[in-house]
Amino acid sequence: MVYPDTFEGFAVQSAETWTQPKRTEYTPRPFEDTDIDIKVIACGVCGSDVHTVTGGWGACPYPLVVGHEIVGHVVRVGSKATTGLKVGDRVGVGAQAFACLQCQQCKNDNEIYCKHQLDTYGATFPGGFVSQGGYASHVRVHEYFVFPIPDALDTKLVAPMLCAGATAFSPLYRNGAAPGKKVGIVGIGGIGHFGILFGKALGAEVWAISRSNAKKEDALNLGADGYIATQEKDWAAPHAMTFDLIVNCANSSKNFNLDDYLSLLDVNGKFINVGLPEGDGFQIHPFKMMGNAAVFGFSHIASRKEILYMLKLAAEKGIKPWIETVPVGEEGCGTALKRCHDNDVKYRFTLVDYEKAFN
Ligand SMILES: [Zn+2]
Ligand SMILES: [Zn+2]
Repeated sequence: MVYPDTFEGFAVQSAETWTQPKRTEYTPRPFEDTDIDIKVIACGVCGSDVHTVTGGWGACPYPLVVGHEIVGHVVRVGSKATTGLKVGDRVGVGAQAFACLQCQQCKNDNEIYCKHQLDTYGATFPGGFVSQGGYASHVRVHEYFVFPIPDALDTKLVAPMLCAGATAFSPLYRNGAAPGKKVGIVGIGGIGHFGILFGKALGAEVWAISRSNAKKEDALNLGADGYIATQEKDWAAPHAMTFDLIVNCANSSKNFNLDDYLSLLDVNGKFINVGLPEGDGFQIHPFKMMGNAAVFGFSHIASRKEILYMLKLAAEKGIKPWIETVPVGEEGCGTALKRCHDNDVKYRFTLVDYEKAFN
């Protein structure tokens, strides 16, 4: 055990070797009096982990330990921490690890859009320390970004809620998913399957929208009220101007005819993107969008306030994501990254067995 001087994790070494993370010891940034140290017990594997370590989103500061769906126990609390966490508490950390907490955005529960926001991994903190994620023995995070987890939620199930779940939840919650509203979820993968679960938990009518019928049974089993396959000819016409909100969770914008999707929206209906596909993005056609006064927008993870509410709702409604567990380690992390890259998972990996890897 190397804590508290150093942490250990499974770090990707280069873009060429991203499927072969290596056990690595590193020095975390100095402990501050508003920090929480967490001994990790589980971590989800996010599509962002893959986009980052492959270099798909641009330069990556190798070696890098990824993982931002972290669950663990508090082992140290800073002397000026005010959120009430105690040593031993079970907590979660998502994709964000810092914001200024002073600016207009931060003061309005929009710290996810703070100009000073820093990511849980791969971000350079003062002093030049690069943040490292949860494929690791420990993480050190500002208390504002550490969330107490309700007892009713299982560790391996709650881990993927901290990024994928939150990413689906925020745009649904902010844009009025509720009883009487019709919501579409595009892309039934890690984030999209949470879109179905949380859309239903918020009381909306939820339709899954996918390319083929391959995920129809899963979507209906997850609770979707309806299913649309966009490979079918003239698929959009029968549903024109019937949706209040569509959340696009698709991981690719290839062959994506945005006009068809926007035509599904009722007047002032919103099409909100949460994915960040690699490549050129979307083609916007003003004449088409004018036809129903469609709103096109984006959403980035979820605020502390939203995550706390999401966890409460998940506990109350007994929300259970579909996950596969993998033992954390060089092999497990490599396999999970590779299979996540290949979309070979229903619908999320959670790395487990941390006590065996780091005892
Ligand atoms: Zn701020
Ligand atoms: Zn993520």
